[in-house]
Amino acid sequence: MIDLRSDTVTRPSDAMRDAARDAEVGDDVYRDDPTVNELERRAADLLGMEAALFVPSGTMGNQVAVRTHTDRGQELVVDEQAHVVKWELGGVADLSGVQARMVDAGPSAVPSPEQVRDAYVAESLHRPGTGLLCLENTHNSRGGVAVPAERIAAAADAAHDLDVPVHLDGARLFNACVALDTDPSEMVAPVDSVLFCLSKGLGAPVGSVLVGSEVFVERARRLRKLFGGGMRQAGMIAGPGLLALENVSRLAEDHANARALATGLNDLPGLSVPEPDTNIVLLSTDGLSAPGLEAAAGERGVAFNARDATSARLCTHLDVSRADVEEAVQRIAAAADSLA
Ligand SMILES: *Cc1c(COP(=O)(O)O)cnc(C)c1O
Repeated sequence: MIDLRSDTVTRPSDAMRDAARDAEVGDDVYRDDPTVNELERRAADLLGMEAALFVPSGTMGNQVAVRTHTDRGQELVVDEQAHVVKWELGGVADLSGVQARMVDAGPSAVPSPEQVRDAYVAESLHRPGTGLLCLENTHNSRGGVAVPAERIAAAADAAHDLDVPVHLDGARLFNACVALDTDPSEMVAPVDSVLFCLSKGLGAPVGSVLVGSEVFVERARRLRKLFGGGMRQAGMIAGPGLLALENVSRLAEDHANARALATGLNDLPGLSVPEPDTNIVLLSTDGLSAPGLEAAAGERGVAFNARDATSARLCTHLDVSRADVEEAVQRIAAAADSLA
């Protein structure tokens, strides 16, 4: 099976399995796990921020960040296609009592400074006030869009001018930085907290990291415990996570493979595939059923996810080679033929 459903499907390498077995461990709730401590130090240094917190998943990292930054009843300004409001089970309402004020960021994938100012609500007797701006880079649902650092800074500066803190959902932060050739610390300098995933393109089996100031991370650490994310001998998963950080620069290969995949698919009749910025390829079908194509490709050993009746998402990753991409294009061509 050539599995293009997501970059989360990678299997840990032998080196990662060794790192899990050999990790020095302790009880991380007591902050005694040296491997977790090292991972948190490395993550904070990499982003040029003060501190970091290892969390089991990206979703938990985002939800802990929202709760840490906000008070109940406040508003969260966010793109309507953002993961934190689209794919996290209404967690901002459920777990933090926050209501989302959604804006349509469009293809640029980041709200403009004007949109941030227009969405802002000042606290008053009648209004809850804006508690947080959440940005996403790369932007998953908009097709792995790599948002340039200047646009992140422009939105963040607009929020800060209104005394609103900014969280960056950087589940695929390093894909953005590699695609744009931007240092991660420069990308995140304008924001107050960042979440990134070790378990996506970087290939770790489990884990994400929430990064910010000492004060932010201290508060987030209590909330992680509340949300059930206080882990014990977590060095077993932080060890592979440390190795995952070595996979940052090779993300460029996934991006090149995604472009090759898009080009190959775009040449097929009935499919329209814009050039991807990073490792996520969005495909539109013209007259062809996307779920039908997904099923027919699945029968031919290629897995991907239809998004709706006429669009689908394909992801390249560590376990997909250029030869796999070429083979996938052939098999999807055959699948499309079988439906025509
Ligand atoms: C995958 C993803 C997350 C959540 O990560 P999980 O580890 O799957 O919970 C958050 N934000 C974005 C943009 C993502 O793509």
